[in-house]
Amino acid sequence: MGLFSKKHKRADTIVVPAVGQGPSPIAVPSGDSIEGRTFEIGSEMLRRARGHKTGILSARFYSDALMEWSMKDHEFKVQMFRFVDAFPMLRTPEAVFEHLSDYLSQPGVTVPPVIAAALKAGAIAKGMAAKTISGQITGMAGKFIAGTDAASALPGLKEMWDGGIAFSVDLLGETCLSDEEADGYAKKYLDLINNLPKSVASWKSQPTLENDHLGPIPRTNVSVKISALSARCDPIDTEGSINDLMKRMLPILETARDRGVFVNFDMEHFGLKDFTLELFQRCVEKIDFQAGLAMQAYLRSGPADAVKMCEWAARRGKLITVRLVKGAYWDAETIKSEMHGWPSPVWPRKWMTDRCFEQMAAIFLDACPTAPAARGRGDIATGGPRPSGVKLALGSHNVRSIAAVVAGLERRNLPLNAIELQMLHGMADQLKFAAAEMGLRIREYVPVGEMIPGMAYLVRRLLENTSNESWLKAGFMDNADAGTLLKVPGAGVPDAPLPPEQADRHMLTPAVEGVGDGKPFYTEPMRDFADGAQRAAFAAAVQRATVPKVANDRTPEQAGRLVASAEMAFQTWRDANPRLRSGVLTRAADLMRDQRDGLAGVMIKEAGKTWREADADVCEAIDFCDYYARLAVPMFERERMGKFIGELDEQWYQARGVAVVIAPWNFPLAILCGMTAAALVTGNTVVMKPAEQTPGIASVLNDIFQQALKEHDAPPGVLQFCPSPGETTGAALVRDARIALIAFTGSKAVGLNILEAAGRTPEAQPFVKRVICEMGGKNALIIDQSADLDEAVMAARQSAFGFQGQKCSACSRLIVVDPDGPRAAAISAFTRRFVEATKALVLGDPAKPGTDIGPVIDIEAKNTIAGFIEKGRRECTLELAMPVPAGLEAALGRSFVGPHIFSGVKSEHVIAREEIFGPVVAIMHASSFEEALRIANGSVYKLTGGVFTRKPAHIEKAKREFRVGNLYINRGITGALVGRQPFGGFGMSGVGSKAGGKDYLYQFVEPRASCENTLRRGFAPEL
Ligand SMILES: Cc1cc2nc3c(=O)[nH]c(=O)nc-3n(C[C@H](O)[C@H](O)[C@H](O)COP(=O)(O)OP(=O)(O)OC[C@H]3O[C@@H](n4cnc5c(N)ncnc54)[C@H](O)[C@@H]3O)c2cc1C
Repeated sequence: MGLFSKKHKRADTIVVPAVGQGPSPIAVPSGDSIEGRTFEIGSEMLRRARGHKTGILSARFYSDALMEWSMKDHEFKVQMFRFVDAFPMLRTPEAVFEHLSDYLSQPGVTVPPVIAAALKAGAIAKGMAAKTISGQITGMAGKFIAGTDAASALPGLKEMWDGGIAFSVDLLGETCLSDEEADGYAKKYLDLINNLPKSVASWKSQPTLENDHLGPIPRTNVSVKISALSARCDPIDTEGSINDLMKRMLPILETARDRGVFVNFDMEHFGLKDFTLELFQRCVEKIDFQAGLAMQAYLRSGPADAVKMCEWAARRGKLITVRLVKGAYWDAETIKSEMHGWPSPVWPRKWMTDRCFEQMAAIFLDACPTAPAARGRGDIATGGPRPSGVKLALGSHNVRSIAAVVAGLERRNLPLNAIELQMLHGMADQLKFAAAEMGLRIREYVPVGEMIPGMAYLVRRLLENTSNESWLKAGFMDNADAGTLLKVPGAGVPDAPLPPEQADRHMLTPAVEGVGDGKPFYTEPMRDFADGAQRAAFAAAVQRATVPKVANDRTPEQAGRLVASAEMAFQTWRDANPRLRSGVLTRAADLMRDQRDGLAGVMIKEAGKTWREADADVCEAIDFCDYYARLAVPMFERERMGKFIGELDEQWYQARGVAVVIAPWNFPLAILCGMTAAALVTGNTVVMKPAEQTPGIASVLNDIFQQALKEHDAPPGVLQFCPSPGETTGAALVRDARIALIAFTGSKAVGLNILEAAGRTPEAQPFVKRVICEMGGKNALIIDQSADLDEAVMAARQSAFGFQGQKCSACSRLIVVDPDGPRAAAISAFTRRFVEATKALVLGDPAKPGTDIGPVIDIEAKNTIAGFIEKGRRECTLELAMPVPAGLEAALGRSFVGPHIFSGVKSEHVIAREEIFGPVVAIMHASSFEEALRIANGSVYKLTGGVFTRKPAHIEKAKREFRVGNLYINRGITGALVGRQPFGGFGMSGVGSKAGGKDYLYQFVEPRASCENTLRRGFAPEL
C-alpha cells in the first residue's frame, strides 16, 4: 500500500500566528498530528530523493563550476550573471573574451584560478577560453531550457512522459514591444496548441498523469505569459489593455477548447497581478476551456486573492486549477518598490512566504470539489456533470511545503490525485522521481525558445538556485538535516525587526530640526497605477479638474508695480527666521499633496500631459519644496572656518533681492514651483511670470504659496503673480533695475537674450544681476553592440516621445553602434524594433489613461515641428510618420503631431543639430563606441545623454567622456528626480546650475564672511 493511502483521523483546528507581521491569529487546519504527518511525508520524500542523488538524474546542477563559484563568492556571482545576461548579444569569440575579462576585472571580484589563467593567456588560449565559457553558459542554459522550439523539445517530452512525468510547455518570451511581436508570439502558441495534441496522441497511456479525482485531464498542457501577447499590457488602462489582449487570447483559448488543451496563465510582476486575475476571469467566463492560473505566495495579498478567486469560481460555477507558487520575482519586486518608494508587495522574510504558501494552499484545498458527481455544468472532456471550485497544483521544490499540503489533503479526506505537483525543467529531478514513486502526479514546466528571449527566465533560475534562501540548495547542496528542512515556517526564527518601509539609505538630506515633519527628505512616491484604488481616484480627479481662466494681461507698468511691492517686502523677508521660510515651503508641499491628483488634472487639461507625466510633474513640485526647505536652513547659520584661538572666522549667506522667475510650459507646475521655491526659501522676494500657455496651473500654485505665506505671517508682497506676455512684460521685467536675480528656464534664444540684457548695468542699478538660466538640449542615446535591445527600445521610445518629446531632456538622437555599416544587421534590427514599438503608441485625449501621445502645446509648436519634419524628409530617410487619427484634433480642439522617426541621419543634418521640441527622432550610425561618443559630443547642447551597453569599460568611458550635464546608463534619459539626479546642463544648455541639486540654492544668495579678533590683552576665551 502506498504511503499516502494510510487513513488519518480528522484533526482539530488550532490557532497559529497569522501570515501577517502582527500577532493576529488565524485558524488553519493544523495540529500536532498534522505537523507529525507533514514530517513523516517530508522525511520519506527527502530520503527517496537523496537516494537518487548519485543516479543519472541527480542534481548535477550544483556540481556546475560556474554555479559553484557563484555561490561561494557574491562579487563573482554579480559579475558572472551580468556577463551571462550580455552573452547572447556577443557575436564573436573576441567579444565574448573581451566582455568576460572586463566583467571579471571589476573591483572586488576574485577570479577562480582556472579562469584567471585563461584570461592572462595568449591569443590562441583566449579563443579557447571564449569557447569554453560559451560552452559552459550554453550548457547551463540547456539545463533549464528544453529546446529552441516545441519540435526540438518533443523527444525530451516523450521521454519524460514515458518515465511518468507530464509537461506544461512554455514558449519563452516576455518583453513584447510591438503588435508585430505580440502577433508572432500568439501565432507560435496557436501552432503549438494546434499541433502538440496530434504529436502526443500516440504516446502510451499514463492513467496517473491523465486523471485526477474528478476525471480525465488533458495530456497537452501549455503555460502562457500574458505580457508577451500585447504591447499595451499596462494596468493604467485596464479596459484598453484587456481588449488588446483579448484579440490574441481568444483565438488561442478557443483553439485550446476545441483541441482539449489545458492553458495556464503564468503570473508575472506584481504590477500585472490584479490585471491578470481580471483577464483570467473574463476569459474563463467567455470561453469554456480547461483553465489554470498561477498565484504567488510571496505576495502579502496572496491569502485575500486566494479567497476572492475561490469565491468567484463558486459564484460563477467554474472549475479552475490554481498553480500555487512562491513567486519568481522577489528580488525585482523588492528593488522596484524601493526604487519608487512604494510599499513592498512581497513578504520581507522567506519563512513568511513559506507560511503564506501553506495558508493559501489550505484555502484552495477547502475550495476543491470532492467528487465528480457534484452539481455543475457539462464537463469538457466527458460531457458529464462538472463541479465548480479550485483544483490545486503545487509549483514548488520545497519538500516541507509539499508535505504540508499533502498532509492537509489527507486531513480533508481528499485523494492524492486531487493535487498535482509541478516542478521546473532542469531542477530537482531527484525530487520529481521521489514524488512520482510516492504516487503523486508530477508535471514538469518546460520552457522552450531561444536564449535571448529566454534570458530573463534563465537569470531568474540562476538567482533562485544560488540564493541562500533556496530550499533546494539547503536540501541538496548544503545537506541540511530533515529537522531543519521540514520545520514549521518561522519556527525558531528570532524576532528580528523588519525592514522599515522607507529605507534610511534613501534619504537625500538629513533631517532639519523644526522643518516639515522633522524627517529627512525622501522623494515623493509617484502614483502606482497598477493599484485600482489609486487609478479610480486619479480618474475622478481628472474628470473634476477645471483649469482656472487666467488672462496673460499684466502690462509692463503693472509688472513694475509688482516689483515695487516685492521690493518693499524684501528686507523683512530677508531677515525672517530661515525656519519660517522653510516652513512656508513644507506647507506648500503639504497643500500640493492634499490636492495632488487635482493638480495633475489641471495640467492634463491645460498642457496636454498624459496621466503619468502629469503625476510626475506634481511629485517633482512637491519634492522641490521639501528638498529646498531642508537645504536652506544651514546656509543661514554662521559656519565657523577653522578653530583659531583668538580669531573667530565665520561665513554665511544672504538673499540677493527681488527675483523674477520666468518658467516654461512643459513642466508648468514643477519648474515654476522649483525656481520660485528656491528664490523664496533663500530670502528673496519673487515676481512669478508663468508661460503664456499655462497660466491656469500657475495660478493654482500661486494660491498655494500665498496660503502658505499667509499662514506663516509673511509680509505682504513677498510673492507677486504676473501672468503676462513674455515679449513685452517679461522683457521689461528682466531689464528692470530693481530686479537682482533672474531665474529662467526656456529656449536657447530667449535665454541668450536674457543673459545679454542682464549683462547691461545702468548707472542707477546698485548691483550686477545674477542669471540662472536653463536652456535646451539635443540629447543623444547611444545603443552599443552589447545593449539589451528590449530595454533600449523601451527606454528610447519613452525618452523620445514622452510628453510628445516636449522636454529639454528628451532624446532626439539615437546613435546605434554597428561595426558592419549603416545598413547592417544590428542597426537594422534596432531600427525595425524601435519603429514597430512606436507604432504601438496611442495618440489621443490625454485625459484617458490609455493615451500615450497627447497634443503638442499649440498650433505654433505644431507648425515649427512640421517645418523640421519637412527638412528631415528632404535630407534623411523617413522610417515612420504616425498619422493623427481622423477627427481627433477637431474633437479636442488641440494640435497633434504623431511620432516621426528618421534614419540615415548625419551630424550635419538639421534634425541632428537643432532642438525640435516635438516627437521627432533621428537615428544615426556609428562604427564604434568611440565614434558614437564623438557624434554625441558634437552638439553645442550638453544637457542629457544616455548609453545602453553591457560592457563595463564602455560604461566607464561614457562617464569620463560623454560630456553632458546628466548621463544615464542603461535607462531612459528623462525623468530626473529631485535630490537623486540633480538636473541641468552646460554649453548651450545653460549656465551649469543643477535644479534639485545640493548647490542649486547658492545661486540665489550672496556669501558673507566675518573675522573677529577675540584676543583681549593677551588672553582669549578658548585657550
Ligand atoms: C511549475 C512551476 C511554475 C511556475 N510558474 C511561476 C509563475 O507563473 N510565476 C512565478 O512568479 N513563479 C513561478 N514559478 C517559480 C516559482 O515561483 C519558484 O520556482 C519558486 O518560488 C521556488 O519556490 P520553492 O518552493 O521551490 O523554493 P523555496 O526555496 O522554498 O522558495 C524560494 C522562494 O521563496 C521566496 N523568497 C526568497 N527569499 C525571500 C525573502 N527574503 N522573503 C520572502 N520570500 C522570499 C521567493 O519567492 C523564492 O523564489 C513556477 C515554478 C514552478 C515549479
